[in-house]
Amino acid sequence: MILHNATLPDGSRHDIALKDGRIAAFHPASSAQPGIVVLPALVDGHIHLDKTLLGLPWIPNQAAGNRVADRIEAERKVRAARTVPEAQTGANLVRQVMASGTLHMRSHVDIDNQLKLRNLHEILKVREQFRDLVTIQIVAFPQSGILRSPGTAELLDAAIAEGADLLGGLDPVGIDGDLDGHLGAIFAIAERRGVGVDIHLHDGGEGGIAQLEAIARRTAAAGLQGKVAVSHAFALGSVPIEMAARTADLLAGSGVAIMSHGPGGAAIPPLKLLREHGVEVFGGSDNIRDAWSPFGNGDMLERAMMIGYRANFRHDEELAFAFDMVTAAAARVLGVEPYGIAVGTPADLVVVEAGSLAEAVATRPRRKLVIKAGRIIARDGVLVP
Ligand SMILES: [Zn+2]
Repeated sequence: MILHNATLPDGSRHDIALKDGRIAAFHPASSAQPGIVVLPALVDGHIHLDKTLLGLPWIPNQAAGNRVADRIEAERKVRAARTVPEAQTGANLVRQVMASGTLHMRSHVDIDNQLKLRNLHEILKVREQFRDLVTIQIVAFPQSGILRSPGTAELLDAAIAEGADLLGGLDPVGIDGDLDGHLGAIFAIAERRGVGVDIHLHDGGEGGIAQLEAIARRTAAAGLQGKVAVSHAFALGSVPIEMAARTADLLAGSGVAIMSHGPGGAAIPPLKLLREHGVEVFGGSDNIRDAWSPFGNGDMLERAMMIGYRANFRHDEELAFAFDMVTAAAARVLGVEPYGIAVGTPADLVVVEAGSLAEAVATRPRRKLVIKAGRIIARDGVLVP
C-alpha cells in the first residue's frame, strides 16, 4: 500500500510505502497539492472501559452533589441497576475508539470490597477479544478508597497476579483521610510486584501539592522513576505558579508523569510549565458516557482540541503539544515501543483530510482511514467488517 502525498505531523510531505505490516519507505511526494495528513495511532492514556454505559439506553446522571464521594455513590446505584455486563459495554467503547484511530489505551478498572475482581475479569475478556487490534493496559483502581474499603489492598494485589498491569490510587487524603496509609499500601504492592502506579488525584490546593510531593518521594525511594503517573493533579492548577514550578521540578526529578484530560469543572494543571520543567505530560479521555459524565466519545483528536481549548492554546506549536499528549507522550508513558512514523515501525496510522497537523487538531475531521499493521480497519469513521 502507498499513501500518496501525505503530510506528516512535522509538516514534511512524502509518499509513504507500507509493506508486511510496517512502514517500508518514504518517497518524494508525487504531487505538490496538499492532500492528506497521516498521523500515528492515537493513544488514550486514561479511560474507564468498565464504567461506560455506551450502547445502552440513556441513563441520566444521578449524582446528588458535586463531590467525588457523591459520584461514587451515584455510580453504585447505576451499577446495581445494570443488566448488561461490563465486557459488552466495554467492547462497544473499544470498537468506537478504534474507529476514531485509538490503538493503545490505559484503562482503570474499579476494585473494592463489594465488586471484588468482577470488573477486572470483565475487562480482561475485552482485552482478550481485541488483542490483535489494540493494546489495553489495565490499572487496578480502588474507586472506593483502600482504607475505608477494608480488604481492598489484598484485592489490588490479587488483581496484579491476575493480569492487571499497574496499581491505581484515589485521593489519599480526600477519600481515605490517610496519606501514608493509602500510599504505603499502593507502593508496597508496586515494589513487591515490580509494576507501575497511576493515581487519581482530585484534591486541590496546598493539600494536593503535599500529596504530589509524597508521591514523588515514594517513587524515588521505590526506584519506580518513569513508571508512576498522577492523573488530573488539579492541585497544580490551583496554587501560585511558583509553587507549581517547584512541584514540577520534584515530579520531573522523580520521573512522575501527569495526565490531564482538559477538565471542564476544575483547574487544569499548567501543562506548558510542567513540560518546560521536564515533566512528562500526557492525555486521556477519562469518563465516557458513564455514571460520572454524560459526555465523551473517546476521540483523541477531539480530546487534543479540548485540552488545547482548556489550556488556552492558540499557536500551531501549542496545538502540536496537545496532539503530542495523545500520541507520543502517552505512548512513552504506556511503554508502547516501537511507536511513531518511521521506517521499520508498525504501520499503525490514521489518515485525515487536512492541510496540517494544527488544522487536524482544530477541526477534528472524520478519520478517512485507520490502519493497523498495514491493514485498513476503519474507513470514514466506520470499522470495516
Ligand atoms: Zn479516571
